[in-house]
Order: sequence, then C-alpha cells, then structure tokens
Amino acid sequence: MQIPLDKICVKSGILCPNCQAKIDKGLYEKWEIDIMKALVELEDKIKGLKDVNYKKSIIFDKKLYIILENLGSHRHELEKYLKEKLNNFGFDRIVLIDYVSSPKELIYKLLKNVEIKSTNIYYSPDGSIYYVVKIPSYEKHKVDEIGDSTKRIFKILTKNDIYYEFIDSPKTKILNDEEKIEQHIDVNQLDKLLKQI
Ligand SMILES: [Zn+2]
Repeated sequence: MQIPLDKICVKSGILCPNCQAKIDKGLYEKWEIDIMKALVELEDKIKGLKDVNYKKSIIFDKKLYIILENLGSHRHELEKYLKEKLNNFGFDRIVLIDYVSSPKELIYKLLKNVEIKSTNIYYSPDGSIYYVVKIPSYEKHKVDEIGDSTKRIFKILTKNDIYYEFIDSPKTKILNDEEKIEQHIDVNQLDKLLKQI
C-alpha cells in the first residue's frame, strides 16, 4: 500500500515535520490519517496491495469515498475489510474509486452505471477548464443520485468542474443474438421477395 505520508508516522499517529506540513497545507485532512492507517494495516491480511496507491478520501452525504490507484482486483476484499475496520466512524457506506489520471476516463469511472453520450472539454476565458457530460434524459434519475458526489470528487482530484447536460434521446435497443438472427433472416427474405417481383 502506497500512501502519501510516512507509514511510521501514520502507524504511530505522531507526525514528522514533513507529514505535518502536508496536513497543514491542506493536501490531506487530519481524519484521512485514520483511513491510511486502516489501509496499511490491511497489508498483512490481503496479499498484493503493494502497488495500490492512496490518492484521497472524501466524505460526502455520510458516505466515505476512498480513491485508490491500481485497485485492480482488490475492490471487493478491501471493501469488506474496510467496512469492518471503519464501522465505528458512522459512515452509511464506503465506496472505493479506481483512480485514473485521464479526466475523461475518470468521469466514466465515477459515473460507471450511467450511459454517457459524450464528454467534452471547454476552456473558459478566465483559464478554468470544465467538462460537459451529455447524458440521455432517461438516465437522469441515476445522476440525481450520484451526480453531486461525482462533481465534488472530480473537483478535488482535477480542480475542474463537471456540468451535466440532459439530452432527449430515444432509448437505443440493444439486440440480443437471437433478435439479430431474426433480423438477418428478415432481410434475406425481403431480398428474395424483391427479386421475385
Ligand atoms: Zn512523516
């Protein structure tokens, strides 16, 4: 487990000047030390956490979001143990987020169950950058649920804003294999019929 503070400082709770400076600068909140500590302690329990890299934790709406890089296949195991370890903190839920450095990819990860039509980057004259995410209006109920936390996490990680734009779009029907074959047969039959005329 890679963490931005010294493991010895996190484990003992006594911070060296270097680690203290990172907290004082606001790079990490004081309570994040407890999260880092829990993660480091899990190294003995879960094998292969060596490359997992702690980025940040965010509390939003009584949920704890832990953003980790190279999470790989450890999500479920980590989530299970963290739930046990952190249950006295009183979070409704612990959500692990797989960090990626590309902002667009990050949007897709954060909105992973939402259908996204497009993501575009815009540069304001004042120098700020924001992203407009186009989503079909029939997905709005999902964005109502996770849209605000996504905006917040994205802002903290990239310093940029997200705007959602809901567009009217007919639901695209995804054909299963059987339907595809049926459609194929129909086309063939139509072709034959046309030739007979
Ligand atoms: Zn230190």
